[in-house]
Order: sequence, then structure tokens, then C-alpha cells
Amino acid sequence: MAARSQELFRKATRLMPGGVNSPVRAFRAVGGDPIYMARGEGPRLTDVDGRTFIDYVLSWGPLILGHRHPEVMEALAGVMETGTSFGTCTPAEVELAERITEAYPSLERVRLVNSGTEATMSALRVARAATGRDKILKFEGCYHGHGDSLLVKAGSGVATLGLPDSPGVPRALAELTITLAFNDLAALEEAFRVHRNELAAVILEPVVGNMGCVPPAEGFLERLRNLTAEQGTILIFDEVMTGFRVSYGGAQELYKIRPDLTTLGKVIGGGLPVGAYGGKASLMDQVAPSGPVYQAGTLSGNPLAVTAGLKTLEILRRPGAYEKLEALTRTLAEGLRSRAVHAEVAVTVNRVGSMFTLFFTPHAVTDYTSAKTSDTARFATFFRALLGRGVYFPPSQFEAAFVSLAHSDEDVAQTIKAAGEAFARLARGK
Ligand SMILES: *Cc1c(COP(=O)(O)O)cnc(C)c1O
Repeated sequence: MAARSQELFRKATRLMPGGVNSPVRAFRAVGGDPIYMARGEGPRLTDVDGRTFIDYVLSWGPLILGHRHPEVMEALAGVMETGTSFGTCTPAEVELAERITEAYPSLERVRLVNSGTEATMSALRVARAATGRDKILKFEGCYHGHGDSLLVKAGSGVATLGLPDSPGVPRALAELTITLAFNDLAALEEAFRVHRNELAAVILEPVVGNMGCVPPAEGFLERLRNLTAEQGTILIFDEVMTGFRVSYGGAQELYKIRPDLTTLGKVIGGGLPVGAYGGKASLMDQVAPSGPVYQAGTLSGNPLAVTAGLKTLEILRRPGAYEKLEALTRTLAEGLRSRAVHAEVAVTVNRVGSMFTLFFTPHAVTDYTSAKTSDTARFATFFRALLGRGVYFPPSQFEAAFVSLAHSDEDVAQTIKAAGEAFARLARGK
């Protein structure tokens, strides 16, 4: 059925670890071989075997306009006339920095990098340099790229010292990362008591996407802002996923919280590799060459990548863009929920703007522990049933799905119908 994908994957497994260049692409959580895509157009992907899918992964978030938006393609073609990289300063990077700082008043200065991972690693370095402290605090289930300090997820208990999630992360470094349950205010208060004036930074996804979509509880971000301010701890919002996604100004605009540092990625590259970190001038001015904190990049501010981002942001600023994303995604999320209820399949749907997750659990999902109550076998069955009906969802229960401006009401209706059939199959125990 998917003969060419299977053939490619067989070859790839001899050439690349697990056959892939990023782990979750391997479909391990849902079974079966990964699908090799050949082409994207609007909300759709076509694979190498000629099958077409409505895409709710959208390159894991960046493609908020859908695939091959004509204006983005045209802008990229224009850059191709001039060159692909100069390793010098170029006009477009100044414009992107201007657009980002206008949209995010907490970013007085910004540095462009090539990925979200680079952005978070660099932001942490700035926070440690600025505070002269080493310890950082993160939340279980939040993903901040694969930098050593951030690949840690402690067991329960406030003062638990971090254990590396990945071999290869030095214990000495992992021990500097304290991990708490997301949305747990009592644990937060306790951590700030135990580690009083010792925390360089708290980093979080203000709306989590990487354990599936989990919004912040009422008052959680506010209390975090107060505690960090009181103790001189740098508050880092990792908005690599939420930036220009949950609203143009990201989660910080939506929840009206001003972090000290922010990391961006995904949407700001419009499908090409761009990341960014920025914040207060007093912090960012510590970065080389204006200060001693070193961070550099051969391809940073790359004109092709920056141009795709700039055009994407320009289109997102047009009236009605976020209203359309909100309306489409609300319809989809409510449609999925009601079809599940109709089929008597227990689900919880979390959504903020155009990111959402359908969890196969009857419980509210507010943190990693509750996310883990999901029935991942059911999710896998559901995922495969959707795939067979031309709908491509993220191949893991613990990922956010996305809607783009290219999706139409008909796409959403078709998806709800396919999901209804998938739920009915699940209810029959298949
Ligand atoms: C995707 C993501 C990252 C990592 O970005 P890469 O470009 O994959 O390195 C970091 N933080 C969050 C919140 C993300 O969603």
C-alpha cells in the first residue's frame, strides 16, 4: 500500500539512527513505518505513494499559513535571485528583529539563531551569566530543545535533584536542573523557599505543547512572575511553539505577563530554520559583541529563512487572521469532542487558539501526570484510523496538533467525519 515509503524507510534505517533525523518522525508511538512526504499544498500533504492527507502537524507548528503559501514562495524566489547566504549583515534581519520587538514589547533586543534549541540554550546562558547563579527550574513535560541542561525531567518531590533523562548529559549539569509539576502552585512556592535566591532562571512553555496542549491554570503565570521578580530569578517564556501561534503577541500577550527573556522559533521562520531569543536590553546587552556572553552562528539571520518568516508575519498581521484560526480550531475541537461523546469514547480536548490535543482520558489534563493517564494504545488506533481516512495527526498522544489559515471549513468537516468513524471503531473495540 505504502510501498515507496516502506522501501525508503528500509534504506534509511541502515543510514541514519532509527532511520530518521528527529525521533518522533519514526512513528514508534503509533506503530507502523513512517510516511515519506513528497509535496505540500495548502492544508494538504501528498506522500511518495500518491496518498493525500489533511495535515494537522504542519511541520510541528511553523506552517501557520499552510504549505507553499504563494506569497511566501514568491518572496523566497526573489531572495534566490540575490544569493542564499552571505555571512554578513543583511537588511531582512533588521526588519525581522523590528517586527518581533514590535509584537513582543518584552523583547527590547533580540538575537536570531537557527533553531529553538539554540534559542533556549542561549537564553539560559544569559540568565546564568546575569545572575551569577547556576540552578534552573523547569516543569515536567515541558520540552525546550535538546540542550544538556534542559533534557531533564525529575521524579516527583520538590527538592528532588535532577536525573538526566538522556545518557550523555553529565550528572553535574543535570543536578542543577530542578523539575516541578506544571500548574502546581504549592510545589512552586516550596521550590522558591528551598532554593531561595539560588535560581538563575525559571523556563517554561507558558501554554505547554510538548506533553500535548496544556494551558496554564488561573494565576499560575502571575505567581511565577511575582516569585521570580522577588528573588531576582530570570523568567524565560519558551514561546518557540506559542509565539505568533496562540496570538500574534504569543502567550505573553494572551495572558498579559511580561517575562524577562523569551525564546521564539517555528512560526518566525515560516517553514525555514529560524529561532530567536531576546528580552530586556540590560540582559541582552551581555551577549557578544556588546557583552561577554558568547553565542554565534554561521547561518544566523540567513536571508532566505528570515524572508520566509517576514512574509509569514506580514500575512498574519492582516485583519481577521487569528479570528479565522480561532473559529476553525474551535469548530474542529468541539466537533471532535461531540463525536467522541456520541461514540462513548472518553476524551479530553485541550485547546488554546489554533493548537489543541485530543487526549484519550476521562480526566482533566493539567500537567504531565494527568497527561499520562491517556490511553496511548487507543490514541495509536485512532491515529491509524485517521491516516486511513486521509487525515494526518501528530504521531504521538503527547503532541499538539495545529490548524493553519489554509484549512477550510470543508477540511474541518471532513476531519470531524473521519474522526467520528475512528471513534466508532474504537468503541467497537477494534
Ligand atoms: C520545538 C520546540 C523547541 C525546539 O525547537 P527546535 O527548532 O526543534 O530546536 C523548543 N521549545 C519548544 C517549546 C518547542 O516547541
